[in-house]
Amino acid sequence: MKFGGTSVGSAGRILDVVGIVKSQLCNEPIVVVSALGGVTDSLINIGNESASGKDVSLMLEQVIDRHYEMVNRLNLDKKIIAKEVEQLSRLVGEIFLLGEATPRNIDKLMSFGERMSARIVAACMRSFGLHAQAYDAYDLGMTTTPNFGDADVLPETYQNIREGLANKKEIPVITGFIGKSRNGDITTLGRGGSDYTASIIGAAVGAREIQIWTDVNGIMTADPKIVKTARSVDEVSYKEAAELAMLGAKVLHPKTILPAVENNIPVRILNTFNPRHRGTLVLNSISTGSRVTSITYKKHILAISISKSGKLDEKGFLKKVLETFDRRGVPVDLISNSKIGVSVTIDEKYGTVELMDDLKKVGKVEVKSNRARVSLVGNDLLYMPDILETMYSSLKRIRIEMVSSSISEKNTSIVIEEKYADSAVKRLHTTFFSR
Ligand code: ASP
Repeated sequence: MKFGGTSVGSAGRILDVVGIVKSQLCNEPIVVVSALGGVTDSLINIGNESASGKDVSLMLEQVIDRHYEMVNRLNLDKKIIAKEVEQLSRLVGEIFLLGEATPRNIDKLMSFGERMSARIVAACMRSFGLHAQAYDAYDLGMTTTPNFGDADVLPETYQNIREGLANKKEIPVITGFIGKSRNGDITTLGRGGSDYTASIIGAAVGAREIQIWTDVNGIMTADPKIVKTARSVDEVSYKEAAELAMLGAKVLHPKTILPAVENNIPVRILNTFNPRHRGTLVLNSISTGSRVTSITYKKHILAISISKSGKLDEKGFLKKVLETFDRRGVPVDLISNSKIGVSVTIDEKYGTVELMDDLKKVGKVEVKSNRARVSLVGNDLLYMPDILETMYSSLKRIRIEMVSSSISEKNTSIVIEEKYADSAVKRLHTTFFSR
């Protein structure tokens, strides 16, 4: 059972978490927690500001106070996080003196978020008579590559954790998001990585189910902030869930899926704010036939067309274009290729002058900014004969500038002007989900 930042964001929420865990004692739960909502961001800020020589004592105090206030409200003993608070303060001092926020230090700094929340949640469970014990994931054997900020688990982790958790009588409350490299440095698994932790632990112990407790009723047919009538989807396949995660639906961390898929463990996405809702079950495969499952979107993208300036039969043009993005470490989102040239979309934050200069060496470049990608995600979409026609007709008068369908038949995406994105999502939702 993994509880995200909002699920442990206040004393009241933590009490709810205790209740939810209590109601599932018969399933022998293992609990994984994120840092209190917003704490990871604050810690990163503190690290960066302190490295640049700023006085961060107030910011640090605020983060520490937030945890102590929580401890107070829950009537717990301050001692449970005293050691972490002291180490955190010392580390911030070291970063200040060093004048540099190394990736190694930032990972160590971020780890305090999860380390404090796990201790608070476990202590709160104990105060309600549950036998719970907090663990730092690395002490149970979560071993990773030394890629700070985006580490990956190493194969020995699974056996380590299986052994580390064997014969534990108490309910383990484990830190999400963090591990240690083989030479003992603390690492993190990428933002939102606590889901990944839950999935790894679930796979290691052969869990019957991995529950991701979050703040929405599972995977939705569209972003409920845009579409009032969006509803949750009962079941999706792993592939659909992975596609949704890649295309920006923020419910699951993309990496989460893998350990669960490989071990055939169902993942259930549930809502701490509405624990009776059955949420969404993610299964290895489901037999739905062709269907649209959800509509996602991503704003703030650039659509870039690079056309051949030389002969149309120029060899290796696509390769040159893609290598240019690759060299600058820019992930290409959609791509559409033709004899004349190639169009791609990228996140606007990567649209640097340097990248454009490099691209101009390959061909003629045209950039459209303030664009959005809107995607239909589902199953066997290529077998829905009229899907594009339906899409086009429901988007009448919104100019579709690029279309791209995935070979996996799991998504059909279009690029439009950003100002039309909300309206496009609404219209597509009406078309595909109100029938
Ligand atoms: N606390 C980490 C983050 O904010 C990991 C997580 O919440 O899953 O990214």
